[in-house]
Amino acid sequence: MSNLLIRNIHLLIQAETEQRSLVRGKEMSQIPMLSNAYVLVENGRIKAFGSMANCPERADQVLDATGRIVLPAWCDSHTHIVFAATREEEFVDRIRGLSYEEIAERGGGILNSARKLQKATEEELFEGAWGRLQEVMSMGTGAIEVKSGYGLTLESELKMLRVVRKLKEKSPIPVKATFLGAHAIPMEYKSDREAYITLIIKEMLPRVAGEGLADYCDVFCDKGFFTPEETIRILEAGWKWGLKPKIHANELGLTGGVQAGIAQRAISVDHLEYTSDVEIEALKQSNTLPTLLPGCAFFLGIPFAPARQMINAGLPVVLATDFNPGSCPSGNMPFVISLACAKMNMLPEEAINAATLNGAKAMELEKEYGTIAVGKVANLIITRPMMSLAGLPYAFGSKVVEQVVVKGNLV
Ligand SMILES: [Zn+2]
Repeated sequence: MSNLLIRNIHLLIQAETEQRSLVRGKEMSQIPMLSNAYVLVENGRIKAFGSMANCPERADQVLDATGRIVLPAWCDSHTHIVFAATREEEFVDRIRGLSYEEIAERGGGILNSARKLQKATEEELFEGAWGRLQEVMSMGTGAIEVKSGYGLTLESELKMLRVVRKLKEKSPIPVKATFLGAHAIPMEYKSDREAYITLIIKEMLPRVAGEGLADYCDVFCDKGFFTPEETIRILEAGWKWGLKPKIHANELGLTGGVQAGIAQRAISVDHLEYTSDVEIEALKQSNTLPTLLPGCAFFLGIPFAPARQMINAGLPVVLATDFNPGSCPSGNMPFVISLACAKMNMLPEEAINAATLNGAKAMELEKEYGTIAVGKVANLIITRPMMSLAGLPYAFGSKVVEQVVVKGNLV
């Protein structure tokens, strides 16, 4: 038995005695907060927490958190950290005036990543993804979802998902795998989309599900990618193999992606930069979570999703990074939280809820992660000294996360 005691915590955030599974609307601005507190971790799980007046006298390892905030580690429910190469040249093309869609139409974008990934070995892909995983953990990520979608052939999609499986096996933080064969239509299928959709439904899904390589099924439902009708067909096929939907929707326009996701009982619809009252109303009538990826809006210079309207309408907003080589080459959750506050008018409490508890819910991990509760896994963040919770988003770009605890061990 080994234990870790964190004592003299200035503010202990998101520690709960009654477990919640998510927060929505007005509740999002409320966050449990204890001042002058301790947390005791035993065998990787939360054993106890409370006021310093009741703090245990000793432990195997003791950390002093004077002046610091302790909160649960981030739950990043949308990433593409398995990729072969960066796309810096396209970044420069965009600076020179090309749009993301124009780059995609010329065979750049996702198809560029796919060409490079097809040539990479499983070992090379694992090495790159493992490095990114270590990096995001050092910034406080304590649970993560990873998608395929740069393969776009049966063999390469399987290769990507085997890399994700290896991440799952070796990672100290939980990893959820999402099959995204429907990320783009490959060049060779441009004149016969139907053949590619058939390949996904008839060949990819059976192999992916047969080898137990994915937890979820994703489709990029948007202008220039997959239509709502195609999305629904692929998601229906995914359900038959036991894969729940989690989809990309409304990044490039009001394309019906949100409605397609809801119709297919998606766990979440992600992006939503283009969201009108119609989508918000539809989300209100569903259990589908709206996941916002402000790092992508920042990097592409597209509108930020209307988080404020969503929360005011009572929705349970989720925040994630979308870490990928094209539209968000960063897995920095503290920066995502800064963007959420500065650009989407989310309160610090709302952003922290969206990035912890609601993020865990978007990966169906809320029973074990996302808050600090007795019995939950001890994946924790210790900040640098700061006065209030607002210090986290306020000091954007600074190293606000000082130490990270994963399963009770310092990263
Ligand atoms: Zn994405």
